[in-house]
Amino acid sequence: MRTIKSTEITEALKNLAIEKCYKIGDDILRGFDWALKNEKSETGREIIEQLKENAKIASQGIFPYCQDTGMAVLFVEVGQDLKIEGNLEEALQEGVRRAYVDGYLRKSVYKDPLRRVNTNDNTPAIIHYSIVEGDKLKIVFGAKGGGSENMSKLAMLKPSDGIEGVKKFVIDTVSTGGANACPPLVIGVGIGGNFEKCALLAKKAALRSFEVRNEDPFYAQLEEELKEKINNLGIGPNGLGGTVTVFGVNIEVFPCHLVALPVAVNINCHAARHGEIVL
Ligand code: SF4
Repeated sequence: MRTIKSTEITEALKNLAIEKCYKIGDDILRGFDWALKNEKSETGREIIEQLKENAKIASQGIFPYCQDTGMAVLFVEVGQDLKIEGNLEEALQEGVRRAYVDGYLRKSVYKDPLRRVNTNDNTPAIIHYSIVEGDKLKIVFGAKGGGSENMSKLAMLKPSDGIEGVKKFVIDTVSTGGANACPPLVIGVGIGGNFEKCALLAKKAALRSFEVRNEDPFYAQLEEELKEKINNLGIGPNGLGGTVTVFGVNIEVFPCHLVALPVAVNINCHAARHGEIVL
């Protein structure tokens, strides 16, 4: 059995979180170049140029890419043959704490949703664990901005609503809230599972690179179709009109009950900070 120290996990996560909040992903940078070629609105192209410039400045490590450095979301896969010296949960929360304090990232987490007092270190992170084969530890990190999160939705559709109902829900959700979520967007869609699983699928999808298609050709085709339909809505960069509203639509699916058709849409903005490490 392999052993890993909790201090190693803390340090690696801290570095990942800081890097992702300052240096936007290469997929998003390629998305900007794609948008410049495909955006028909001059204002839209100007906005994309400004976003590129912003990314360049932020990558120098003085200012984060966006002032809202989000709430940290982690998907953690723990190999069943891995032994962790120390407490995994504490190691992960400490990694997030140090990233947001030492990295001068905005602390956006309230201790209580109604009494609203800041925890001052951006913890707790929201952590989803799964046990997998092997002796590795994989951590997927996302810094999820509040503006795009607020535009996300979930619906328990009827099975008879079918694929057309799913498409309509996704498109309607982006149509009503997309302009407020800092487009161009990455749309995470969860289909199936139950109420809570569906939301998790959407989150997982939103933290995936928009350049990666679903492995099932049926859903890969649906991703492409939704991308095209949403880009035809005319929302455009920063919601000021145009032909590039989304970089991509990512779908994750799970089996569901025969009377159910849950669908969730988790919207991610152009900041779409995500990254992963394997220890
Ligand atoms: S939605 Fe994204 S880009 Fe807009 S303010 Fe929030 S984190 Fe920043």
